[in-house]
Amino acid sequence: MAGSTSGSQGGLEALSGCGEDSGWVEARTSCPHLDRVCNAPLLPRFDAPCAICGDHRENWVCLSCRKVLCGRFINGHMLSHFQEFGHPSALSYRDLSVWCFACDSYLDAQVISELRPAFDAAHAMKFGTPAPLRC
Ligand SMILES: [Zn+2]
Ligand SMILES: [Zn+2]
Ligand SMILES: [Zn+2]
Repeated sequence: MAGSTSGSQGGLEALSGCGEDSGWVEARTSCPHLDRVCNAPLLPRFDAPCAICGDHRENWVCLSCRKVLCGRFINGHMLSHFQEFGHPSALSYRDLSVWCFACDSYLDAQVISELRPAFDAAHAMKFGTPAPLRC
């Protein structure tokens, strides 16, 4: 809640303009939807099943409410959670990537400070250590 460093790391203004970024698969390093992220470093266990269908195969954790829901290749419950509640970003329990449904893009959790606590917690659960700092 005490909004810590809501960064002044602008510098992306130059992106507006002509659409030459076809094939853009890089994770975004900023996202305008992160005010909904709860950055308490608490995560459900990795073996938590999807809260709706109970599937274990490819789950994501909602970064707004910490609910565990399955991905688009299973039953898409994380997507329907976004549509229903407007919680835009989720962290993959499979590969720790962060997806923003509102941006329709991956987010770089190692760069975006709001995502760091959850990413570190997930990394620590998976590998036993916090994520290495990438400079
Ligand atoms: Zn499900
Ligand atoms: Zn949620
Ligand atoms: Zn976003």
